[in-house]
Amino acid sequence: MSRVVIVGGGVVGAMTAYELSRLGQTVTLCEQDAPGAGSTGAALGVLMGIISQKTTGRGWRLREQSIRRYQTLLPELTALTGQAIPHNPHGIVMLRFIDDPRDDRWQRLQRVRAKQGWPLALWDREELRSHCPQLESDRLLGAVYSPQDGQIDPLALTAALWAGAQHYGADCRSGTAVEGFSCDQQRCTAVVANGKTLVCDWLILAAGLGSTPLTAQLQQSIAIQPVLGQAFRVKLPQPLNFGDFAPVISGEDVHLVPLGNGEYWIGATVEFPNDQGGVVADPSLKEQVWQQAIALCPALAQGEIVETWSGLRPRPQGQPAPLIGPLPGYTNVLLATGHYRNGVLLAPATAQAISEAICGIMT
Ligand SMILES: Cc1cc2nc3c(=O)[nH]c(=O)nc-3n(C[C@H](O)[C@H](O)[C@H](O)COP(=O)(O)OP(=O)(O)OC[C@H]3O[C@@H](n4cnc5c(N)ncnc54)[C@H](O)[C@@H]3O)c2cc1C
Repeated sequence: MSRVVIVGGGVVGAMTAYELSRLGQTVTLCEQDAPGAGSTGAALGVLMGIISQKTTGRGWRLREQSIRRYQTLLPELTALTGQAIPHNPHGIVMLRFIDDPRDDRWQRLQRVRAKQGWPLALWDREELRSHCPQLESDRLLGAVYSPQDGQIDPLALTAALWAGAQHYGADCRSGTAVEGFSCDQQRCTAVVANGKTLVCDWLILAAGLGSTPLTAQLQQSIAIQPVLGQAFRVKLPQPLNFGDFAPVISGEDVHLVPLGNGEYWIGATVEFPNDQGGVVADPSLKEQVWQQAIALCPALAQGEIVETWSGLRPRPQGQPAPLIGPLPGYTNVLLATGHYRNGVLLAPATAQAISEAICGIMT
């Protein structure tokens, strides 16, 4: 069995630790902070796989694999760890707008997905109103309903993955920063973490934004930029949904995620770094998201924002997200990073690709 060191205990590193330890590898997971303390802790956990406009190639393959794996993973992890993983099984309602010149893309997507075995429903305005009467904007043309997508609590998932990996023998260490490496030609032979040496056969870099300085130490700097996202939790006097149907609602990049008890996560902004590389949350962009949400669903105006947060998404520069596969110049260093806006969605397929590279089999 190989000795695998994984750097980064967000959803991607944790998923990889879980899958590899399940396959019998000797895994050490090093997280400098707490599980999910990076981008993962800020995510809304919306899984836009089938509803994505990606229909071919790597982008679709990763999404389909991930959605498929989530169907087995959640019951498996809950049974293994006994930990609750809050998730939304009602699917995603993607709104369509009368002034969208590209609305015909949804009919095309519905045809392609039907052939791929993932049915989508196209609702007109009346059907949308019958399913989601809380949505009242005059701009609404209807919706696309994807029952197979969903949403999952990213921190609860990450905690369960840590516990699951530990169950299979992984050594999962929080408060453990990786500071350096020992290398022999094209191989990384050991990792230095908190001043201690960990010998490795494989090194997995799942450190999100922390991957750039680590790759620089390995003389193969990979540029990953921070893209800030603000999101917030709203509490309403009563829930907005009618009956038991409470899907994630998504329109023009605004997501409404029902949490139960009249609470919703709403987000998220997309804020790029300034010319100096810094990125500071802009309150006016958060307000814009809030007003967009109210325009779609006027009853939200009765709610109160009870919590606001922001996080930094790791976006690869000059390469499409995510970065999965060998670090150039090395035979045993694998990247599992740069997941930008879809790390929760794509973590399962990423972990499968890494497992395949190390064990030669799909998990
Ligand atoms: C507001 C917001 C909303 C989002 N919503 C969604 C969504 O709905 N759906 C979705 O799929 N994605 C969403 N995302 C994106 C998602 O959060 C990321 O793509 C995902 O969390 C990336 O996971 P990761 O494990 O690669 O990175 P991270 O979660 O950042 O984990 C990397 C970890 O590595 C650790 N680390 C770094 N350097 C070192 C080192 N030297 N030694 C040890 N540890 C180190 C860090 O402490 C960190 O915990 C959202 C992001 C934001 C900000």
